[in-house]
Amino acid sequence: MLGPVILAASRSDKMRRLVSAAPGTKQVVARFIAGETVDDVVPIVSELSARGLEVTLDVVGEDITTVEQSYAARDAYLELIGRLKELGLGARAEMSVKLSMFGQSLENGHELALANVRPVVAAAAEIGTTVTLDAEDHTTLDSMFAIHEELRKDFPQTGCVIQAYLFRTEDDARRLAANGSRVRIVKGAYKEPAEVAIQDKPEIDKAYVRIMKILMDGEGYPMIGSHDPRLISIGQELARRAGRKLDEYEFQMLYGIRSEEQTRLAAEGHRMRVYTAYGTDWYGYFMRRLAEKPANLLFFVRSILTK
Ligand code: FAD
Repeated sequence: MLGPVILAASRSDKMRRLVSAAPGTKQVVARFIAGETVDDVVPIVSELSARGLEVTLDVVGEDITTVEQSYAARDAYLELIGRLKELGLGARAEMSVKLSMFGQSLENGHELALANVRPVVAAAAEIGTTVTLDAEDHTTLDSMFAIHEELRKDFPQTGCVIQAYLFRTEDDARRLAANGSRVRIVKGAYKEPAEVAIQDKPEIDKAYVRIMKILMDGEGYPMIGSHDPRLISIGQELARRAGRKLDEYEFQMLYGIRSEEQTRLAAEGHRMRVYTAYGTDWYGYFMRRLAEKPANLLFFVRSILTK
């Protein structure tokens, strides 16, 4: 019940101001957000790498309102890639981007987002890594998939995300699996209406399994984005049945969630990538993490009350 309420609040400016100003917020945010600047996140990449983990880096931000902000988003990623290059960390870290932060919802947003993301994808390729396009709410996805297809003409390693809760996703998975894409499958983190998305959690899990099977049996590179132990073990079994070697798929989890399990899977020989978000515009990302697990909200409220 709480999840949808928190997701609605994640789009409210009033709530954004309240939550950001609350005492104790910073401490709870730090569990999920790896810092505010490139300097904060680089040591974390090294630390995760030393634990045998790979990383995908997300500069937090979305729902921007000006073209200048979209350029700033592009530049923040270019700065990050420059630092990874200097430090020789390119092989361990890929990038995740939200096209809304690159201007997708502004006027001529599709073209603007493509123009902004292209140099980021090119810079990533130059240091031997890749970019994955995150999936946002369902209204943005046709544009995201078209940008993905366009980028893949020059940078075939570019990845994208599909969301098990959407009715459309099995068809998207079939298309992407046939064309050899890198595809991250997740349950889905946005508040979506019943016309486009499954609302019942067990049914979302069943769809997730069907989609994993399509990806594992296909020609692409599946990236299993989940903390759900049942789905992870089903993913392992589907990979085994499809005859995939350990480097022909990977698991992904979010920074700050089930860290011991991340290390355990890596120690077993799996490629395990940690989605590591950083930056100052953390509100939307943080609220989705609260919505996924009501206990996080209780912890958050308690930390405010005890300040
Ligand atoms: P759940 O059933 O939600 O969780 C399983 C267990 O994991 C829970 O019981 C709990 O122990 C733990 N857990 C899960 N979430 C939390 C949390 N927030 N805090 C504490 N414990 C938790 N969604 C999108 O819509 N678009 C994206 O592009 C996207 N990218 C993602 C990238 C990665 C690498 C991952 C892991 C998730 C991404 N998501 C994205 C979020 C995803 O859609 C889910 O909302 C999220 O992963 C929770 O689902 P779950 O599969 O972990 O299963």
